[in-house]
Amino acid sequence: MKQQLVPISEIQKRLRAFKLSGIVNTLELRIKQAGDDNLSYTEFLSLLLEDEINRRDDNRKNKLYKSAKLPFEKGLEDFDFTFQPSLKKQEILELATCRFIERKSNIVFMGPPGTGKTHLSVALALEALGRGKTVLFTIVWDMINILQQSRADYSYQRKIQAYLKPDLLILDELGYRSMAESTVEDFFEIVSKRYEKGSIIITSNRPIHQWDSVFIDKTLTTAVVDRLMHHCSVIEIKGESYRVKRRQ
Ligand code: ADP
Ligand code: MG
Repeated sequence: MKQQLVPISEIQKRLRAFKLSGIVNTLELRIKQAGDDNLSYTEFLSLLLEDEINRRDDNRKNKLYKSAKLPFEKGLEDFDFTFQPSLKKQEILELATCRFIERKSNIVFMGPPGTGKTHLSVALALEALGRGKTVLFTIVWDMINILQQSRADYSYQRKIQAYLKPDLLILDELGYRSMAESTVEDFFEIVSKRYEKGSIIITSNRPIHQWDSVFIDKTLTTAVVDRLMHHCSVIEIKGESYRVKRRQ
């Protein structure tokens, strides 16, 4: 006996219930294509499966990029190395392979404002995301504020996890303000818990020997610098601000 035909809308409903929305979106198109091009059952089915796989891939990528919270999207191809001759392009390209993330090692970008520290961090973040790594970008001060507030509402343990989990954590703009003692402890907590477990990129307008005045406490500064620097590429940019150049 021939089975009764189920209308397409009903099939789509069932596919949706099975969370196969990649197939839901293309089903009508593929059915038409199968008729027009005389596709075999196998060809038809594999096309549908591919649609589902592609949709899941896209969703995963979108989620990854969104959760990185990058301030903008600029890659290495947008970076003019001729403008910053103190930078070794080869060294940056080596970092862009993201092997430093596999090794759980860190990067410190140091240099005056406008020299491309944030841009390079974002560019490396994009390389990492392209390789399926998880990334979180934050301005140091925002992280410190969030952690301080979380102590008041007892969400500290949960909030700190957000900074420990990603494969790569970018801490932007260290050194614009000095930290209070309790906030230095939060910073130390992040650095020591990520030590040899996950990579950190720090950007700073101050050379490391001046970090004493950022962290106030000498002992804690030593402890932070010790862990951070054990596996670390320090990249010092000695040059002019790109913003100033563009204004001229
Ligand atoms: P910093 O973080 O060191 O203060 P940014 O990375 O924010 O500097 O750079 C300031 C602006 O100038 C950004 O828009 C950045 O994309 C751009 N920029 C900086 N250096 C370069 C460069 N060498 N080539 C292209 N754009 C650059
Ligand atoms: Mg910056």
